Amino acid sequence: MTAVIVAGNWKMNLGPRDAELFLDAFAAVFGGSGEPADGQARPGGCRVALFPPAVSLDAARRRKAQLEESGAWGRAPALELGVQQIHAEADGAFTGETSAEQASQAGATLALVGHSERRTIFHETDDMVVRRVQAAFRAGLAPMLCVGEQLEERKAGRLEAVLLRQLEAVLSPPELRAGIRPETFSVAYEPVWAIGTGETATPDDAAEAHAILRGCLVDRLGEEIGAAIPILYGGSVKPANADELLAAPEVGGLLVGGASLDPGDFAALVGAGGRAGS
Ligand code: PEP
Repeated sequence: MTAVIVAGNWKMNLGPRDAELFLDAFAAVFGGSGEPADGQARPGGCRVALFPPAVSLDAARRRKAQLEESGAWGRAPALELGVQQIHAEADGAFTGETSAEQASQAGATLALVGHSERRTIFHETDDMVVRRVQAAFRAGLAPMLCVGEQLEERKAGRLEAVLLRQLEAVLSPPELRAGIRPETFSVAYEPVWAIGTGETATPDDAAEAHAILRGCLVDRLGEEIGAAIPILYGGSVKPANADELLAAPEVGGLLVGGASLDPGDFAALVGAGGRAGS
């Protein structure tokens, strides 16, 4: 079984100093290297990732290294860092943008691509998403492709059409398909109506969407690779609903916004990932 992934998207929250304090508190939850006391989060085989703002990436990377060196990281799980957004070009006159290469230098190994806030607020098209996935691969970052339908699209019975359009765009170019492996690519299903609204998809809603995505991945990449690509669920995930969402068929992890800003809640979500993966 592929390891469950619990990932936190901090969005435009937590500057460099806040990121350090977050990691201190997160490590403290896992308390040293002894056996966990009852009720403490157990990361198990769960993969854990954080997507801080680009300006906080380097601080997060340095603090994580300091905590590991001092032994304070204890039993806290290995932590991967990612960037929330990358430009398609490696460098140039693109004021305010961050390239995949720069994010990699600052400590990222992952990149969110196509988050619904980028698609809706910043009008990113499927073509732009494809170019950003290409940029991530070029720089050696593993893209986490976000897909999901708007409420009106769901109500109009267009769930499948929207998800397939967004995923197929990235799976169609042969050179992209060739670079896709379970360790270099993941998909996050995030129904737009459930992001930051407190409205969570039911486990059945998640299972329906994940089955559509899995079918497309297997169809385009073959059984061996397509069946192993992680598909995460995201949208108002909290410690209280994590277990039931992780129990839904094909839900291989969680992408968490709001609840990832609190080190205690995020550690509890990692504990849920550990239970689901054991
Ligand atoms: C997100 O932004 O990816 C997300 C899932 O946010 P929230 O958990 O706050 O709904």
